[in-house]
Amino acid sequence: MHITRRRFLAFSGIGMATAFTGCRPLEIRGVSPDSALDVINQPGLTGKALLAGNKHRFLGYPVNMTTLPEEFFSWRRQLHAAGINQFAFNNVGNPFKESSLPFNTHDFEREVIRHFAGLYGFPVHDYWGFLSNSGTDSNMHGMYMGRTLLTTRTGVRPKVYFTGEAHYSIQILGDLLGMEMVQVATLADGGMDKVSLADHLADNRDHPALVVATVGTTFKGAIDHVDAIQSVLQGVDSYVHLDAALFGGYLPYTPFVSQVLHQNGNRRRYDSLAVSCHKFFGFPSPAGLFITRDSLYQEFNEQFSRIHKPEYIHHVPGTITCSRDAVKPAEFYFFTTGSASARQAADAGSILQLTARLHQEMQSRMPMLQATRANHLSNTLYFRKPSPAIIKKYSLATMNLATAAGTEGYAHVVIMPHVTDRVIDEFLTDLEVDRGGAGV
Ligand SMILES: *Cc1c(COP(=O)(O)O)cnc(C)c1O
Repeated sequence: MHITRRRFLAFSGIGMATAFTGCRPLEIRGVSPDSALDVINQPGLTGKALLAGNKHRFLGYPVNMTTLPEEFFSWRRQLHAAGINQFAFNNVGNPFKESSLPFNTHDFEREVIRHFAGLYGFPVHDYWGFLSNSGTDSNMHGMYMGRTLLTTRTGVRPKVYFTGEAHYSIQILGDLLGMEMVQVATLADGGMDKVSLADHLADNRDHPALVVATVGTTFKGAIDHVDAIQSVLQGVDSYVHLDAALFGGYLPYTPFVSQVLHQNGNRRRYDSLAVSCHKFFGFPSPAGLFITRDSLYQEFNEQFSRIHKPEYIHHVPGTITCSRDAVKPAEFYFFTTGSASARQAADAGSILQLTARLHQEMQSRMPMLQATRANHLSNTLYFRKPSPAIIKKYSLATMNLATAAGTEGYAHVVIMPHVTDRVIDEFLTDLEVDRGGAGV
């Protein structure tokens, strides 16, 4: 039977609405029936609710699946009562400048940046930043700032340096920003090899260097040591962006905070920082922190104001995107409070403890899986790939890694605050009885 598009829409329950423009009715195709907003007509929603019951077994990706405490939802309701998330608030522009759009939450955004700039050891009177869409968005701003500053200072567009362990967004952004990319080799622990970096820098002496250092690489949880990188960058026109999307969330609450601090004494370690809000903090939608020094931002902004006309919003926005979410900064403000900070500190301690325990048990009970923890700051373990059933049950991420024996399949787990001892016990038991794994 031939089914026309109109009949198909009628069959599939996707309707059509009629609007009136003057005297001629206008059909709006593909509308959902209003009854679709009734939960009984949405079996998919029940499925999502069931899924929520299984979220503590989500081990393969760096997202904190903990349902936030009631205090968060209470704060959300208070914001809602003030109109936030009821109509179109918008944080367009620089949160540190007066805005011509009064319906914004720049005040909360400034507080969020002030709090976290302090946590990462930025100078009290020299920090700037905003709440971005994601870790990737923060990386984009960092790399764009670095490219702009270095190009202006030297007249030559920089090359961008990173390792094969860096997040894939860096490759996309390097391409987007039209920068030649230089892949630096890694050490056995997955961190950037400073000797390789020095070699590449020597080969590219006529170009400034934009280095993206990662604290907590995506698959291995490796660390690029910023101080070692800076020692090699002596005398080179350079800019260092720190991608700490995951580790940057929890390290400030641990004895290992120095890895993500902006300064070591009076020495600046990096120029800008990216941290995801939905990873360690468990913020319920994607968002990111972008923080840099205000003095650096001012230098960037001078160039930025020359390449576009910001007249329409009455100031240089400072950000690449125009409209920005006003709800997220106001809601993320919750994570700056004392009780939230105490919970974050407790979570940071327990994920590292649980990672150490899982690592030790995997090594003793199933050595053939070769479970590896790149360093003791990491909440990530990678090991030889188990059976598809286990990969599916725990949503494990997998990757082929080059080893002495050639290319082998690996999986990793990322121990986030929602992971309990009980789930780890269940996981270990499942691995022990697993007969489909590569290591058996
Ligand atoms: C997750 C991750 C990103 C991307 O962050 P999003 O917030 O998902 O955009 C970038 N870098 C690293 C190291 C990551 O772990």
